[in-house]
Amino acid sequence: TQGVNNTIDFKDIYVYSDLTTIDIANLVIRNPDADNSISSSVETIIADVKHRGDQALLELSERFDGVKLTDIKLGKDDIATIASSISEDEKNAIDIAYRNIWKFHESQLHAEGKVETMPGVTCWREVRAIEKVGLYIPGGSAVLPSTFLMLGIPAKIAGCSEIVVCSPPQKGGLINCYLAYVASLLGIEAIYLCGGAQAVAAMAYGSESIPKVDKIFGPGNQYVTRAKTIIQSTSLTAIDMPAGPSEVLVIADETCNPAYVAADLLAQAEHGADSQAVLVATSDVVIKRSIEELKKQIEVLPRKDIAAKAIRNSYVILAKDIEEAMEFSNVYAPEHLILATDHWDKLIPKVNNAGSVFLGNLTPESAGDYASGTNHTLPTSAYARSYSGVSLDSFVKKITFQHLSAEGIRNIGTAVETLAELEGLHAHKNAMTLRKG
Ligand code: NAD
Repeated sequence: TQGVNNTIDFKDIYVYSDLTTIDIANLVIRNPDADNSISSSVETIIADVKHRGDQALLELSERFDGVKLTDIKLGKDDIATIASSISEDEKNAIDIAYRNIWKFHESQLHAEGKVETMPGVTCWREVRAIEKVGLYIPGGSAVLPSTFLMLGIPAKIAGCSEIVVCSPPQKGGLINCYLAYVASLLGIEAIYLCGGAQAVAAMAYGSESIPKVDKIFGPGNQYVTRAKTIIQSTSLTAIDMPAGPSEVLVIADETCNPAYVAADLLAQAEHGADSQAVLVATSDVVIKRSIEELKKQIEVLPRKDIAAKAIRNSYVILAKDIEEAMEFSNVYAPEHLILATDHWDKLIPKVNNAGSVFLGNLTPESAGDYASGTNHTLPTSAYARSYSGVSLDSFVKKITFQHLSAEGIRNIGTAVETLAELEGLHAHKNAMTLRKG
């Protein structure tokens, strides 16, 4: 069922057992930037910001966001004024999300004990916050105050001393009232009006207005994500993970509700044309009903055109059973995995690669996107094979400490001397021999 541009159809429906290993490897590639166009424009932007600082930022905002700014920095008073236009209902919803996200991330604070590996040899780790962090809050096709909560709350709990926030300016050259309200909840006193690769470059290298940070966090489109992967090897700034265009994989069996499945696929598809929403179902009937539902539901979406493009960039797989479905999912390594089945509990041990998992028919991804408490900044493009989503751990370092007493020296000394000797490192050996006496 090859889609043409004005249809609402998946790219194709594949039968899993017909796919070769190479087919599967090709299917799981997302946003390949085959002609290198994203990389090359991002490299140009980074070089420009590095050399011309604020002037480059102002020009790039005019070019990409259509806004002529005079000042990149929005201060405390402006933020308070903008925040005041939020309604009570909206405030309450943000407050609920804030409390749940805080509660879940606070539970991730664990003190580790000291370990005596030999009598007199004591080792332990202490947690220290990363001092300067940069948060990127997407704001191109949709402004995401939820992302501000997801990044700002763990940064606050960790105790980061400097939190730099960048988000693209909206038409009118400001941020919206929701970002401003979240800033006031978090006690953040400045937001830099800057988006895309240029915001990442500014936080990595610093500009006249924007301070350089030690680690950059946050999702974004392909420009943002590519910029993050470039600067982590060219500047002394780390990144949380490659968190690019959003994606979901829904596994559905005959116990699913096709209307819910369709709604979940569309919730992902409306993010952007480069988002992917993959359905892996164990029966033809589930596929047919889910697609019928999707075609019905998409009609009333304000972001129908974006969602339709993403669906054309997505596909369906017919699996013989849930095991086959899980096998594909673990290769795809989705950012979001929804198990649309009543038998979800049996599947938990089979999940090896996924950013965040939504269990059963009553758990929509949107709960985790906004308010249940888990973080929504998650690895995309199969990076869930090796990266975790953002958590409190992302904002801290764990520093090892050790102490040797005279007894410790007696117990470990000869082993250290022998190991230094066999590696031919005599100064290492001497550092122990002098203490052993
Ligand atoms: P964005 O803030 O990421 O990007 C907007 C910026 O992109 C603009 O300010 C502009 O500077 C830059 N840009 C746009 N076109 C450009 C071009 N041609 N050349 C160079 N730069 C250009 O906002 P967005 O575009 O709405 O994207 C948000 C993304 O974040 C979506 O793809 C969404 O799926 C993703 N997302 C991911 C996660 C996750 O955890 N992985 C979570 C939330 C959102």
